Amino acid sequence: VKALSDHELDAFVEKALAFLDEHATRRTESARAWGTGPDAIPLLEGSNPDTQMEELASARRWRRLLFEHGYGWLSGPAAYGGAELHPVLDDVFFDLQRGYELPDMSYFGQATRMLGPTIYSHGSDELRRRYLTSLYNGDLVACQLFSEPGAGSDLASARSSAVRDGDDWIVNGQKVWSSFAHVAEVGELLVRTDPAAPKHRGLTMFVVPMDTPGIDVRPLRQMTGSYSFNEVFLDDVRVSDANRIGEVGEGWKVAVATLNSERGAVGARLTNPDAQPLARLLHLALTEGADRGLLDRVAEIVCEDRVVDLLNAAARERLVAGIEPGSEGAITKLKLTQNLTRIAEVSGDLLGPAMSADTGRWGTYAWSEFACSVPGMRLAGGTDEILLSLVGERLLGLPRDPRA
Ligand SMILES: Cc1cc2nc3c(=O)[nH]c(=O)nc-3n(C[C@H](O)[C@H](O)[C@H](O)COP(=O)(O)OP(=O)(O)OC[C@H]3O[C@@H](n4cnc5c(N)ncnc54)[C@H](O)[C@@H]3O)c2cc1C
Repeated sequence: VKALSDHELDAFVEKALAFLDEHATRRTESARAWGTGPDAIPLLEGSNPDTQMEELASARRWRRLLFEHGYGWLSGPAAYGGAELHPVLDDVFFDLQRGYELPDMSYFGQATRMLGPTIYSHGSDELRRRYLTSLYNGDLVACQLFSEPGAGSDLASARSSAVRDGDDWIVNGQKVWSSFAHVAEVGELLVRTDPAAPKHRGLTMFVVPMDTPGIDVRPLRQMTGSYSFNEVFLDDVRVSDANRIGEVGEGWKVAVATLNSERGAVGARLTNPDAQPLARLLHLALTEGADRGLLDRVAEIVCEDRVVDLLNAAARERLVAGIEPGSEGAITKLKLTQNLTRIAEVSGDLLGPAMSADTGRWGTYAWSEFACSVPGMRLAGGTDEILLSLVGERLLGLPRDPRA
C-alpha cells in the first residue's frame, strides 16, 4: 500500500461530496433533532421481518448506484470494478455517507468488509472472477458460517465436516448465530476436512451458494424482537473444490483474516446502523435531571467515545502511511463495546421503568432495543474476554493464557 497525500485526500473528499449531493439528501440538523425522525436506536442490523425485504431492496439499489459510479469498491482492482484508489478511502467514503439519508447498509457489511477482502487476499483467480464484482455491486448478500453450538470462542474446534468426493466435498454439520443467513446468497463456510490433524490445522474454508440443496436456514429470534441471525443445518451439501478459499487445511488462517477485518470494521463503526446513541444520551442526561454522579458517568462515556475515535484515527493514519492493519482492531472493538455497555447502563439509570415499559414518550422506550443489543455486540466477532487475551498475547507480548 502506498502512502496517500493530504492533497489526494482532500481532492477525493470534494469529489465524493459532490457525488453524494447529486444522488442523496443531506441530513439536516432538524432531521436529527430530538422528538423527530424514527423513534429507534438500533445497534444490531434492524431485521424487522415486516420491513427487511424492503430495506434490503433499497440497500441493494444504493450499492448498485455506488458501483456504477466507481464508489462501490474504491480500493479494489479495476478488473473487478474497483477504482484502484487508496484503501483508506473506502472508510473515508463510508463516513461521508453518514451525513446523508441513506438505506441501512449493514446488509452488505459481510460482503464488502469480510468475504470480499478474504476472497481477494486468499481466493483463487477463478473465485475472484466469479465473486468479487458481485460482492461489491449489491448482487450478493453474504453471511459467515463459522460458529457452531460447540464452537464459538474456541472456533478452531468446529466440527462440521467436509469429506472429499471427486471434484466436490460433501458437507454435514450445524452452524449457529449466522447473521443475515436468511437473506444471504453466499456463505463463507468453515469446516473440518482432517479430523486427525491438530484442531487448527484440520480446517478448510469454502464459499457456498446458500441455495445449494441440503442447506436449511432457520431464523432465531433475539431479545430485541427482531430476527437477524439464524441456525444453519448442513445435510449432505455438495460444494465444488473450486469453491475452496485457500489451501486444504489452512482454513484457520483464512478465518483469522476474516475476523481481523470484522473487528476492525466493527470498531470503526463501519458495520452498524447510524444510531447516534451518544447524542441522545446527552440529551437525556440534560433533560431527565441527572445528578452529579450520573453526569460524571456521562462525562466518562464522552471521553471514552473520543478514545475510540482517536484509535480509529490512528488506524487510519497507519493505513494512509501504507501499513497493513493487523490485530489492533481488537482494541478498538473492545473499547467501543465497553462504552456501548456504559451507555446502556446510564440510559437505564436515567430512564428507570420508562425504558422497560412503553409510556408513549418519544426517545425513552426506544432505548430498550439498544440495551438488549449491546450484549450481542460484546460477543460477535470475539467476546470481550477473547479479545482481552488476544490483545495481551499478540499485541502486548504477555505470557499465553493456559490452553486446555
Ligand atoms: C450479534 C451476533 C452476531 C453474530 N454473528 C455471527 C455470524 O454471522 N457468524 C458466526 O459464525 N457467528 C456469529 N456470532 C457468534 C459469535 O462469534 C459467538 O457468539 C462468539 O464467538 C462467542 O461464542 P459462544 O457464543 O459460543 O460463547 P462461548 O464461546 O461459549 O463463551 C461463553 C463465555 O465464556 C467466555 N470464554 C470462552 N472461552 C474463554 C477463554 N478461553 N478465556 C476467557 N473466557 C472465555 C466467553 O468470553 C463468554 O463470556 C454472532 C454472535 C452475535 C452475538
